[in-house]
Amino acid sequence: MQPIPVVRAEAYYKPRPARPGVPAEDWSHIPVAERVFSWYLAWLGRRVAPPAGTLSDAFYARIDHNRWLTDCICGNAQIISPTDPRAACPECRYGWVTLIFPADPAAVEAEMMQLPALRDRFWWNPDDPKNPYRPEPPEPLDQP
Ligand SMILES: [Zn+2]
Repeated sequence: MQPIPVVRAEAYYKPRPARPGVPAEDWSHIPVAERVFSWYLAWLGRRVAPPAGTLSDAFYARIDHNRWLTDCICGNAQIISPTDPRAACPECRYGWVTLIFPADPAAVEAEMMQLPALRDRFWWNPDDPKNPYRPEPPEPLDQP
């Protein structure tokens, strides 16, 4: 059995399936980072316009319970993808920000897929200040 892959935005933010008399929408033309706004309308019935412009901020990507996530300044988290490394928040409309992924996201995903239980699949960038496993800086030596 193949291990379950790490979830990226393109695998999560998908249109509703076809229903009798209602064909499924095709979102393949929508950039991956923007599909969350289509998803909000299709699945939550909330029409949220993406913010205009790009901010100079950069947010870290992390893996949380087998999903690539980033955290907004408002406390919202959303699923992201290394194939379109930017994000804007559908809750507070903060964005667009650049996402900081590891140099080789597929290698991190392969590492995660070695863990059979999805509940064990967490990863933080070593440089992320919110990384709970970030090494402590060395303490200064006492001066006499
Ligand atoms: Zn937000």
